[in-house]
Amino acid sequence: MIADLSPADLDAFIARARADFDAFKARGLKLDMTRGKPSPEQLDFSEGMLALPGNRDHTTDAGEDARNYGGLQGILEVRKLFAGPLGVKPENVVVGGNASLAMMHDVIVWALLKGVPGSERPWGKESEIAFICPAPGYDRHFAILEEYGIRMIPVRLTGEGPDMDEVERLVRDPAVKGIWCVPKYSNPTAECYSDETIRRLAKMETGAPDFRLFWDNAYVLHHLTENRREILNIVEECAAAGNPDRAFVFASTSKMTLAGAGLAFFASSDANVKWQMARASKQTIGPDKLNQLRHVRFLKDEAGLVAHMDKHRISLAPKFKAVTDALQARLGDTGAATWIVPEGGYFVSVDLLPGAASRTVALAKEAGLALTPAGATWPYGKDPEDSNLRLAPSFPTLADVKTAAEGIAICMALACAEVEKAKRLEKA
Ligand code: PMP
Repeated sequence: MIADLSPADLDAFIARARADFDAFKARGLKLDMTRGKPSPEQLDFSEGMLALPGNRDHTTDAGEDARNYGGLQGILEVRKLFAGPLGVKPENVVVGGNASLAMMHDVIVWALLKGVPGSERPWGKESEIAFICPAPGYDRHFAILEEYGIRMIPVRLTGEGPDMDEVERLVRDPAVKGIWCVPKYSNPTAECYSDETIRRLAKMETGAPDFRLFWDNAYVLHHLTENRREILNIVEECAAAGNPDRAFVFASTSKMTLAGAGLAFFASSDANVKWQMARASKQTIGPDKLNQLRHVRFLKDEAGLVAHMDKHRISLAPKFKAVTDALQARLGDTGAATWIVPEGGYFVSVDLLPGAASRTVALAKEAGLALTPAGATWPYGKDPEDSNLRLAPSFPTLADVKTAAEGIAICMALACAEVEKAKRLEKA
């Protein structure tokens, strides 16, 4: 435990960590673990899709010509294919473009301009509105809210979703209109929301009659082990609790097929789907149905989808293990860092001693390692403790992930020991 080291032992620890750091830096590497992008190998799993639908195969089961305009909701076969993972009937799925983030963005803008089912007025006409932001969370969720001046209220994650006592207290305020949730293999903490968390979210009393759960199930099928975690069905839980319109569900195939050319989904209650499509119909005559057909031809059915996701698991799992092994080796008995060993998702989230995150990023940069900036996982880029870092091991090769993870763990150990020493000097 770093905190228990005698002054001399702490100095020796720092000297050893410094020597390791200098040796690592001398290798002159350039490695990047900043963003959760699929690797070229993963993209190759879907290479076969690029030749599809092909051979004048452009007619949907309903006899529509997929090359033409129309079909705003998305072709039925693709909605059937993803209805299971989304947890709704095919009638309650809307297929968008290539980015679920765009669908989330638009839903928020439409809520601001028009209100949602149950709104007394457009959200933008309220004197002030706010969102609950479980943190650490996904920086691009927070960026949308910041863009439109929606106040963000961070709430701590517990390992089973957000601190629900705090959420239940905050939602009594009618200004609080929504909460971001990444309920399965959360970005970045990899936690899954427990049954209790989900039930409480579905039934909690909200001050705003038009409060919404922004349920971004981006990692619904993204398992890293053979234990495929399931969580409760939020749409059903909300309906059972008498709040049928509470959940806006989002997902995409960005990390199933092609990150830049996948399919995005919105799923919700009848009223919400009708509302979404009424807005979307002013934006587009219809989505890219050839891409939808391509996905159906390639993935075939839910079993095909699950088998495809297994390829990703097999490719990704060793990279995650390399990261958590390196953390364990360097930081396991220091008491200076905690992390969850992810069972799914795209990230390893590490909490360091307060003050050590930005120092780690600076050291890593010096050593040729690009890390996501400290604070990025918090609303407004401000981590109150400067302790959380998000590592994204998917993109580099396994060999590079191993090297980078070793370097990062060295930087973390050095940063934490320096912070401990500074704290003692301050106290003295
Ligand atoms: N939601 C979460 C939680 C994510 O981590 C990501 C990608 N990093 C996205 C959404 C982006 O999804 P899409 O590609 O469908 O816009």
